[in-house]
Amino acid sequence: MKTVHCGSMLPTPQIVSVRLPGQSYDIRVQPGLLAEVGREIAAVTKFRRAFVVADATVGPLHAPAVVNSLHLAGFEASAIEVPAGETHKTLATVSMIYDALLQQRIERSSVVIGLGGGVVGDMTGFASATVLRGVPLVQIPTTLLAMVDASVGGKTGVNHAAGKNLIGSFHQPIAVLIDPQALRTLPSASISEGLAECIKHEIIRDRQGFDMLEQNIGRALNLDMAYLADLIAHNVAIKARVVEADPTERGERAHLNFGHTFGHAIEKASNLAVAHGAAVGLGMCAATHVAEEMKMIDKPSQARIVELIRSANLPTTMPASVSCDEVYSAMAHDKKVEAGRLRLVLPDTIGHVVIRDDVPADVIRRGIGSLHR
Ligand code: NAD
Repeated sequence: MKTVHCGSMLPTPQIVSVRLPGQSYDIRVQPGLLAEVGREIAAVTKFRRAFVVADATVGPLHAPAVVNSLHLAGFEASAIEVPAGETHKTLATVSMIYDALLQQRIERSSVVIGLGGGVVGDMTGFASATVLRGVPLVQIPTTLLAMVDASVGGKTGVNHAAGKNLIGSFHQPIAVLIDPQALRTLPSASISEGLAECIKHEIIRDRQGFDMLEQNIGRALNLDMAYLADLIAHNVAIKARVVEADPTERGERAHLNFGHTFGHAIEKASNLAVAHGAAVGLGMCAATHVAEEMKMIDKPSQARIVELIRSANLPTTMPASVSCDEVYSAMAHDKKVEAGRLRLVLPDTIGHVVIRDDVPADVIRRGIGSLHR
């Protein structure tokens, strides 16, 4: 991670570079950046047409500042609105984006910008990967989850009736622009959901980062901008390093699924009533319970993990209406099942995880059951 000094009136940016075969790009974290994104995007493309995709909640809040900044930087820019929420993360909504782009005669050189949470980022990424066989993409994430996770790594896509994110592609952005100030309009539950992904990153890669987050979780919840900028840049760097080592998820990138195999199943079994970040928090509790029962991690470390999730204002127990059997059966249909074996990412200490495909079914079931206590 590097810090750069420039002529802007904004606080000093933190820049994380992502280096991938055939494509490298910078992720810029800087409070106040939304008002200056035009200048940053002008620096990564010589063309001057841009389309800003945002949902019905984020559009009215933040699209005018982004479009205005693009105009000031010499872009012809317009906004495209899509409905908000995970239930709209579908091919039908992507089709609405195609219609708007094609009606406005998008060209190969035009930039498509995803302004919003992970849902808009994933759909905009997929639309930009496929329209005209691929156009440049810029991500401007506006939820903490999208800032530290969804906007980094190039995974794009939509949900299908058969499961989450089953349709999609890899399409790397040309830039990711993160303004922590955008989080001021976000409901506090959503901040907690993003913290679930931060906790995940520390557990899989960084024991010291875990200690720091334990000490500063209150500052994050209180939207202390200086701390949030550091936390976001630190987490983006963790995710970027994992993605660089394994851009298309053939190996160690699977570590990022810690808590997610359980979490996706909880989301599905609850009919999306349990939100993604909350489900990931529950999934990490269940996976750590499994790791403790398998004698991989000690009880004090397990207790610290559960306590940090709780102190981020995330649930550590599952609603009684979500049955263990339904969660288990949703896990068995997860796309990460290989040759009939469930591959689980489990911590053996805080800061390190391993992949296991030999966990007995009854241990997995007890891991899910631990969420009903
Ligand atoms: P989201 O995109 O649905 O956003 C949550 C809600 O917050 C939405 O209603 C949105 O309109 C609103 N919102 C967003 N920014 C706001 C702001 N600044 N102020 C006020 N409201 C705002 O949910 P999310 O948690 O950001 O993303 C979840 C999605 O991300 C899931 O679909 C998940 O699959 C995906 N995801 C993708 C990756 C990846 O690698 N591509 C990684 C993790 C998660």
